[in-house]
Amino acid sequence: MSVWRACVFALLLPACAAAAHGADFDYRLQPRALTTDTWVVEGATADFSPANGGDIANSAFIVTGAGVVVIDTGPSRAYGEQLRAAIARITAEPVVAVYNTHHHPDHMLGNQAFADVPVYALPGTRAAADEVGATLAGNLYRLVGTAMRGTEAYPPSASVAAGESVLGRHRLRLLALRGHTAADLALFDVDTGTLFTGLVFNRRTPATPDADPAAWRASLLELQALAPRWLVPAAGPPVADAQAQAVLAHDLDYLDWLVGHFEAAAARGADMAELLDAPLPERFADLALLRAEYRRSVSHLYPRIERAALARTRAPE
Ligand SMILES: [Zn+2]
Repeated sequence: MSVWRACVFALLLPACAAAAHGADFDYRLQPRALTTDTWVVEGATADFSPANGGDIANSAFIVTGAGVVVIDTGPSRAYGEQLRAAIARITAEPVVAVYNTHHHPDHMLGNQAFADVPVYALPGTRAAADEVGATLAGNLYRLVGTAMRGTEAYPPSASVAAGESVLGRHRLRLLALRGHTAADLALFDVDTGTLFTGLVFNRRTPATPDADPAAWRASLLELQALAPRWLVPAAGPPVADAQAQAVLAHDLDYLDWLVGHFEAAAARGADMAELLDAPLPERFADLALLRAEYRRSVSHLYPRIERAALARTRAPE
């Protein structure tokens, strides 16, 4: 009898529940201690695939002494459940709060596993999750398959604003930024100097489908000014001190180059087909998915820059 046939007769068996929601996909999550009370679970610097189960973003948690704070919950219900289990192996403290840095599916589709605790996000993130969360979840099913079984869009349940609060041994400063999306939450642990952000990419090309490059630039400058001791990016390994500044500067350099390159192309009337195979600067060769993300930017960011350039040339004197 197939497992599915068996499940028809025994819907409540745990094995059947597991098969029904992708828990048979093992993400092999390995939380790594970063600094005092602070753990990071690194995703792959790759594109979504069945092999990685959509695990291409970092998640993190802080064991504060007054409960665990989770930052981002991964791409699926199974990931969220395995993250929660990994936390429970490290500490007996309960999870008391979850924060979603932004509405992209690789950062928040594990929310289902934390339905019994508040899941916080900026109001703009909540609005975007309400609007496109189900669509993004559907897309991820298409790209990732089995690991996504049983995953449903689970929008954040509570709003946060910029400010500071104390939880246990940790003072957490929330920063309301934007640029990677219309609402990007960053958390800065004042006590450890650790910055958690979904709008910084390390060794991976910044993704621009929802980008506002000028706002993104301003946000990166704001994060540079924080001078974090540790930086936990959206993707790629965490980095410290001068390396953190270098990563922020590299992202700024890439975005500035991308916008300048597109503006120059728009000024000479280049079309998208011509841009797709344009040579890319050697200094960005260290960024994973460079050509793929650049091409995505050609398809959705270039048309916007082209329209803006056209509007400028047509503006009355
Ligand atoms: Zn994102």
